[in-house]
Amino acid sequence: MHNIEAAAELLDGIGVARPEVEQAVRRLLEAFGEDVSRQGLEGTPERVARMYDELLAGYHVDPHAMINDALFDVEYDEMVIVRDIEFYSLCEHHMLPFLGRAHVAYTPSNKVIGLSKVPRIVDLFARRLQVQERMTRQIADFLTAAIHPHGVGVVVEGLHLCAMMRGVKKANARMVTSAMCGSFETNSQTRQEFLALIAGNSGPILT
Ligand SMILES: [Zn+2]
Repeated sequence: MHNIEAAAELLDGIGVARPEVEQAVRRLLEAFGEDVSRQGLEGTPERVARMYDELLAGYHVDPHAMINDALFDVEYDEMVIVRDIEFYSLCEHHMLPFLGRAHVAYTPSNKVIGLSKVPRIVDLFARRLQVQERMTRQIADFLTAAIHPHGVGVVVEGLHLCAMMRGVKKANARMVTSAMCGSFETNSQTRQEFLALIAGNSGPILT
């Protein structure tokens, strides 16, 4: 179980230091030229600090408690897929949101994980300052550490507000990343099966 801890890549401490964030937001607003005492902004530093505590909660999740009793021994070696997992993250370059869907698949080797846990694994890594490529890899590595499957495939489709809002070419705003491990990397038939199963009719990314 020890490598689950390592795969979770947690930060020390118990969470966001709210008073410091409040202070920093107040100074940021002042630097914008705003009047921090005007009514609309009065509660903003405190609200933003609370918000970051929630949006960055992934750094401090106990991975053992998260998985809890949801590992099951089974004799099943067909691919398991959880597709269209909604996620919201923050890009670490601009601290703006990127959001979209993750598709996670694995081929079990004696162990499966409860379906409801897969979105929580995605959240564990989405609720951080991230780059999409790293998040994709972390999800795959964590699942590998948790259940040692024959292989794992993760595909993430994300829309990056830092590109959309800043008028960078819109074509750069949508990004697809993937991480393939074990049989998903070595066996092109497995990989193709996964990609075929996640292709097509999964509606628009933003609904
Ligand atoms: Zn960015």
